[in-house]
Amino acid sequence: MGARRNGSERPHEVFNSEHRFATEVAMSSLELYSPTDLGDALRYIEHGDKNVAIIASGTDLVPRIRRRQVSPSVLLDISSFTEDLSYIRRRDGAIHIGALTTVADLLESSMFDDKLSVIHEAGWLFGAPQVRNVATVGGNICSAASSEDLIPVFMALDARVKVVSTKGDRTIPLRDFVVGKRKTALKQSEILAEISFEPPEGHSWTAYEKLGRRNMLIIAMVNEALSLTLEDDLHTIRSARLALNRVSGRVPALAVKTNEFLAGKKMSDRTVREAQGVLASEVSLTSDFRASAAYRTEIAQVYLKRLLERCSRSIGRPS
Ligand SMILES: Cc1cc2nc3c(=O)[nH]c(=O)nc-3n(C[C@H](O)[C@H](O)[C@H](O)COP(=O)(O)OP(=O)(O)OC[C@H]3O[C@@H](n4cnc5c(N)ncnc54)[C@H](O)[C@@H]3O)c2cc1C
Repeated sequence: MGARRNGSERPHEVFNSEHRFATEVAMSSLELYSPTDLGDALRYIEHGDKNVAIIASGTDLVPRIRRRQVSPSVLLDISSFTEDLSYIRRRDGAIHIGALTTVADLLESSMFDDKLSVIHEAGWLFGAPQVRNVATVGGNICSAASSEDLIPVFMALDARVKVVSTKGDRTIPLRDFVVGKRKTALKQSEILAEISFEPPEGHSWTAYEKLGRRNMLIIAMVNEALSLTLEDDLHTIRSARLALNRVSGRVPALAVKTNEFLAGKKMSDRTVREAQGVLASEVSLTSDFRASAAYRTEIAQVYLKRLLERCSRSIGRPS
């Protein structure tokens, strides 16, 4: 390890047993800064002039550093700010989730039953228990990778993120926050503080589908989330928000045209078939060593059908 600066003055080595994602990393000159609080962290990155990487639990960042895909000079460790950044709260009609909330926290919360079961579904398909215990919501969103589970889920819920800096807060719709593969709208002087969304109202349901090559530690080849609301007749679609990953540019995105097509249609085999056609013509999915674009498009269509049927069946079920 290179030089170490520690705002709290407590002994702290990167990735020692104290760290939530302990691992052995051979890196020549990497400095660790452990700020005393969020204000201290924000002041440290205020001018955006250092080659700093924020580290939460490191489950995404550390492997990338080891593979030399990123080479920060300083790691800004925010993992101890759980008091400020780890929470799941309902306030003013919205659900607010702090950036350091882990996937395991999401799974333990009773706020995500029924209409919000999409969050638990994605949580159970996320990594393995060891990863779920530490992987944070903020880290998942800021990774902006093409296989991340939580981004399509929160896009389907029309979520927004709150980012903070010494200059104050700003709130950005998640669909505008993730701007490209591994690219977000976050400035170098900002930290993601929370994600929030209004739970769907009325005759609504949400669901998630994910395809990988194995049953655990699944790297998603295709993952797709839907939030569906029906009219009072429980037959006409009021709104659909489908979001999926591996879309052109290899980032998650909303299937805007498919969602527009579905609004106002009666749920029927024909509607589902036509929506599958719109989806296939709308999205251009990527090819890589895991799957071809043609295969991904086929699965994305199958998942659309499955999600529409699962959501509409759950809405129609007497509670
Ligand atoms: C074995 C294994 C299995 C995995 N399985 C899955 C899976 O099934 N599904 C899935 O989606 N992912 C999976 N991942 C990837 C990873 O676990 C997730 O993306 C996780 O949510 C990242 O959270 P973290 O706290 O570890 O982020 P970190 O690795 O600490 O950070 C990730 C990125 O976000 C930035 N960052 C983190 N927090 C903030 C913040 N608050 N503000 C600004 N920037 C921030 C960091 O600078 C970095 O660029 C897996 C990883 C491993 C190692």
